[in-house]
Amino acid sequence: KLGNETAKAELGRAAWKLFHTTFARFPDKPTAEESSALNAYIHLFQRLYPCGECAGHFRTILDKFPPQVSSRSTAAAWGCHVHNEVNKSLKKEIFDCSNIGDFYDCGCADGEAPEGG
Ligand code: FAD
Repeated sequence: KLGNETAKAELGRAAWKLFHTTFARFPDKPTAEESSALNAYIHLFQRLYPCGECAGHFRTILDKFPPQVSSRSTAAAWGCHVHNEVNKSLKKEIFDCSNIGDFYDCGCADGEAPEGG
């Protein structure tokens, strides 16, 4: 059966947005339980990703680059790196991971910002 490239790309953009925004909101100093939850989430995201071909490719990437879940910044940097691995294999532009800090905004008011955010 022929794939639908438009639907696959749209799913990818939505999935990456959620993936990176989740890391941008992960605690700076997570508990062991929070780190373990993020690790499980990433592995389940791969296993259950609706595009089977994509899930298969991502499995290989996760085997090579295991999730880094010890803090927000390591998780965000890891997420940027694995997305770039996918970008490379699809011959897309490489994203500059030094910009990842402010790029993914959840739009939520319940920030940890001390000054009335
Ligand atoms: P996307 O790659 O979807 O990126 C969306 C936006 O995120 C970009 O416009 C940019 O602003 C930002 N961005 C780009 N790179 C990064 C980065 N490294 N870190 C943070 N932000 C970044 N498609 C296939 O055809 N074959 C596959 O095997 C495949 N595997 C996939 C595996 C996974 C786990 C996921 C989530 C998607 C996969 N896709 C695959 C879809 C593919 O990655 C793209 O989402 C899709 O092709 C649309 O690409 P895009 O150019 O719009 O940008």
